[in-house]
Amino acid sequence: MQQRNISAGYYVNKNPDPNGDHEVHTSDCRYMPREENRIYLGTFDKCRDAVQAAKKHYPKAHGCSYCIKECHTE
Ligand SMILES: [Zn+2]
Repeated sequence: MQQRNISAGYYVNKNPDPNGDHEVHTSDCRYMPREENRIYLGTFDKCRDAVQAAKKHYPKAHGCSYCIKECHTE
């Protein structure tokens, strides 16, 4: 998996997935939630930092399996 080496904007889905996890997405993800269903987290160099920021909103947060697979957990 290629690591992103530029800062990207990250968002967290307000709605949990069926496992109760709130997914974190990059701004260019095709699975980006609708505007009313997402919270902007900011820009981060590493997706792990974005997931940590998301956990301030939702303790159960993880990376999207599509856009930041390296930060996705089952
Ligand atoms: Zn995504």
